[in-house]
Amino acid sequence: MMIIAFRRTIAVVIAVFGISSLVIAGEHGKTKGGVMVNVYSYRQPFLIRPLMDAFTRKTGIKVNIVFAKKGMLERLQAEGENTSADVVLTVDISRLSALKNAGLLQSVQSDVLHKNIPAHLRDEDNQWFALTTRARLVVAHKDKVKEGEIANYEDLTGDKWKGRICTRSGKHPYNVALWSSIIAHKGNAEAEKFLSGLKANLARKPQGNDRAQVKAIFEGVCDVAIINSYYLGKMATNDKKPEQKKWYSALRVIFPNQGNRGTHVNISGAGVVKHSKNRDNAVKLLEYLASDEAQKMYAEVNHEYPIKAGVKWSDLVASWGSFKMDTLPLSKVAANARKATQLVDKVGYDH
Ligand code: FE
Repeated sequence: MMIIAFRRTIAVVIAVFGISSLVIAGEHGKTKGGVMVNVYSYRQPFLIRPLMDAFTRKTGIKVNIVFAKKGMLERLQAEGENTSADVVLTVDISRLSALKNAGLLQSVQSDVLHKNIPAHLRDEDNQWFALTTRARLVVAHKDKVKEGEIANYEDLTGDKWKGRICTRSGKHPYNVALWSSIIAHKGNAEAEKFLSGLKANLARKPQGNDRAQVKAIFEGVCDVAIINSYYLGKMATNDKKPEQKKWYSALRVIFPNQGNRGTHVNISGAGVVKHSKNRDNAVKLLEYLASDEAQKMYAEVNHEYPIKAGVKWSDLVASWGSFKMDTLPLSKVAANARKATQLVDKVGYDH
């Protein structure tokens, strides 16, 4: 019976959760080896394992992690009260707010999290917390676009950029969050004008990931793209694919909207699962991830911006300069996500 049940669990896990690698969590709560906490993570092992190992060394709390690329919300819904998950780790504000809206997270009252994380980067009901930020940057070919030629996202709708811009799908969460922020600041009509203007200037049908847009700049397909900041770091230091260092070297890095609302940022973040069985350990883990030590690791390992003030940026990230970020509460960005995807359809952005 035990074996059958176990097999069934694995089958469900793989079907529903789209597992890339997997550690099956053991019993809840205390084990022979001490206390534990179970994590469902969309964030990748190379980043998360060192952080969790450091947490275990510091606290003695063992961390079990299920890594996945999709299906987290559906799995938590299916597991309900029987879930073994205590903590979720993910990127993107829309994913965190979807978990909250599905009633899968719980409120956490923590002085440490309140002190370390700025208010606009955490949920007003304390159900999710940002752990890092990433700027959605404009990058341009440094020889073809002069310094100061692009100051705002809105400048990309100008006639001079016709046929010169590349982006990934308008429906990718990173872009949806940017469009949502424009709706939140300027309203739906202005956001539509922006999106149709941007679409009119695209060099090709939206395709590929953020790095593929930089490759296209390098290859002369376009001169301007919109990408997340940490990809610059990943390309600049990519020893496995050294051609990406050349792509990076061709770029001028632009922080848009410095003279007004600031550059749009998205987040990676975490929450405590509603039916967590190891709640205290879950809160301890979140507090650790918001600590100086963990924040420094995020900054160094993945070229992200720490959310905690005073934590040093990596040298490479610092080389792009400091900037003013858009401090509109991210809950307001998430609230406009549906309107944003409707606009993408309306202007035919991806076609
Ligand atoms: Fe990414």
